[in-house]
Amino acid sequence: MTHVSVLKINLEALEHNFNFFKSKLKASTKFLGVVKAFGYGSDSVAVAKHLERIGTNYLAVAYAKEGVALRKAGIKLPILVLHPQPDQFALLIKNCLEPNLYNFKSLEVFVKVLSKNKLENYPIHIKFNTGLNRLGFVADDIPKIISILAANSSVKLASIFSHLAASEDLSEKAFTLSQINQFEQIANKVKKELGYTPMQHILNTSGVVNYSEAQFDMVRIGIGLYGFGNEEKTTNQLQSVVQLQSKISQIHTIKAGETVGYNRAFLSDKVIKTATIPVGHADGISRQQGNGVGYVYINNQKAFIVGNVCMDMLMVDVTAINCAEGDTVYIYKDQAHIEDLAAKQNTIPYELLTAISQRIERKVV
Ligand SMILES: *Cc1c(COP(=O)(O)O)cnc(C)c1O
Repeated sequence: MTHVSVLKINLEALEHNFNFFKSKLKASTKFLGVVKAFGYGSDSVAVAKHLERIGTNYLAVAYAKEGVALRKAGIKLPILVLHPQPDQFALLIKNCLEPNLYNFKSLEVFVKVLSKNKLENYPIHIKFNTGLNRLGFVADDIPKIISILAANSSVKLASIFSHLAASEDLSEKAFTLSQINQFEQIANKVKKELGYTPMQHILNTSGVVNYSEAQFDMVRIGIGLYGFGNEEKTTNQLQSVVQLQSKISQIHTIKAGETVGYNRAFLSDKVIKTATIPVGHADGISRQQGNGVGYVYINNQKAFIVGNVCMDMLMVDVTAINCAEGDTVYIYKDQAHIEDLAAKQNTIPYELLTAISQRIERKVV
């Protein structure tokens, strides 16, 4: 289906952002680009292909199927699957994807599936929980992990890693430093008992911005690649990778006493002009943006949403804007726009980006 709304994806901006983060790293530090959730709502294949072209070392997705889509598109880079499900292990192996194993069940099942396939030295990644309390082994698990690895030549530990809970929040600096310190101790213990040296990584985007001294062997950059640094100074140096555009479907003159949209949520007290735009909550525009909260840009002016956001459309106030049916509308114009809308609906750009629905056409520019 073709939908008049399109999400433009700017690969030059992606490359700029990649180079920005590269410049914060030692030459020897590997760069893992996170392309989970359709490349943060953009186009994981287009983004991954470009990242591969410009020298990214690793990619990460959340689930095996996301990695399979990249393999089908011809991507050759190693791909870390951050949250693989045991029933997908065979698929994962078939596609040369590398699992994050985070508990004994996942480790033991994976080793079993490998030995069935008679594979040797298959790269795996082991995650340690240092305070996020989401996924991961703990330090006390190390002896048992080592004994499993020693007994199974089917696996080779490619890396050990952890994830920070509040790397963007400098008021949590003491906690973050304790996570880094804990991770370092865990890694040293693993390396000593393992007999070879796997890579070590803990930093995400804000980790690189605020704690670049803890870059170890690799960093995992997600949101930064798409243009968001989780703080103004960094974001200002990044470029926006996505821009969501649409076109005005129809313009209405609303008389005083008339209402607009479902539930008659907007009642006009004067004559106004509205424009109907073909994006709605099914496209990822939250109903929380309705009734004057959110806005789009038309002819460089803000046009606020009138009434409730519908499933496939929304109406905006264009009384003061010189515009016509068919004119371009910027639903998400740039980072500042996305950040402002995210703040207004009490969330973060990550959520707005990944909510952009798959029915919106992606167009690489
Ligand atoms: C999503 C994710 C990242 C990327 O985080 P950003 O804040 O987007 O850079 C890194 N590591 C893990 C484990 C993740 O789940």
